[in-house]
Amino acid sequence: MRRNRFLALGLALALAPCAPAWAQGKGLVGIAMPTKSSQRWIADGDNMVGSLKALGYQVDLQYADDEIPNQLAQIENMVTKGAKALVIASIDGSTLSGMLQKAAEKGVKVVAYDRLIRGTKHVDYYATFDNFQVGVLQAQSIVDRLGLKQGKGPFNIEVFAGSPDDNNSGFFYEGAMSVLKPYLDSGKLVIRSKQVGAMKVGILRWDGATAQARMDNLMSAFYGKDKLHAVLAPADVLSIGIISSLKGVGYGSASQPMPVITGQDADLSSVKAILRGDQASTVFKDTRQLAKVTADLVDAALSGRTPTVNDTKTYNNGVKVVPSYLLKPVAVDATNWKPVLVDSGYYKESQLK
Ligand code: BGC
Repeated sequence: MRRNRFLALGLALALAPCAPAWAQGKGLVGIAMPTKSSQRWIADGDNMVGSLKALGYQVDLQYADDEIPNQLAQIENMVTKGAKALVIASIDGSTLSGMLQKAAEKGVKVVAYDRLIRGTKHVDYYATFDNFQVGVLQAQSIVDRLGLKQGKGPFNIEVFAGSPDDNNSGFFYEGAMSVLKPYLDSGKLVIRSKQVGAMKVGILRWDGATAQARMDNLMSAFYGKDKLHAVLAPADVLSIGIISSLKGVGYGSASQPMPVITGQDADLSSVKAILRGDQASTVFKDTRQLAKVTADLVDAALSGRTPTVNDTKTYNNGVKVVPSYLLKPVAVDATNWKPVLVDSGYYKESQLK
């Protein structure tokens, strides 16, 4: 007995110097991000690393180049390395069930980051922004700029949606449509292409080049003589492609101004486009806050503490309603970019020049 104890102690001491670094803190947390192609996800990754480290965790941050097999392999690797929790911004929210089943068998906690993970009970919490409200803010920017409330119109609009495999896309689209519908119904807004529906107008993987190509096609098929007055673009990565397309057919000059184009994320390129007058608005989602909230959910899940959530109804993933924390998105345009983005310390003014 005594000898065994000594043996065990000896073994522990012998292993100690080889123990991985994370064994000494509160444990390893894997952070799976989708892509670096949009600036926001880079900020998300950095902020998540900072927030988790501040709470005493070690981290493994990975980006998957928007390829589902990459993300699956990265998550598997995190679990193999002994991650106690996973923070996942999924590429396709419905492809992770098998992997999360394996993780759950090892007791790994899972927090869905920004995008809901669908079709599994193995997701403990969800941290995001009020995604319906994002769409509402985008559409309000169109309504305000066109003067629709004042009875102006009719105006031509085309609508885009996000990636059909991203659970957020439907929320953004429905939020926007809740505001635009009365004007579409009354004929004050006209979609000449008649292309509607989040699935039909969705851009797979949020690919800017695909959005640009769709805009090219819409312009050549439906806007020979007629002018386009507004584009509902659900995110800055798409807005930039849409702006390029429209510049290609002569928009963006004094005689033919850009349509009202919306966005989301306050990516630097879009804030610059707002300052130039090419893009009308974006929606800022403070990734510093999202990271903080998510780190708290991770910490609560791992310590058994009851976490702070503020929505237990909205996000049904097909198997269960995932307890969520929703942050508030903020509309940004040429009138308020400074207080919202610069005075808050999110960007330095020099970055926007
Ligand atoms: C996020 C948006 C982002 C989009 C494309 C969505 O899931 O909520 O902020 O613009 O993905 O990356």
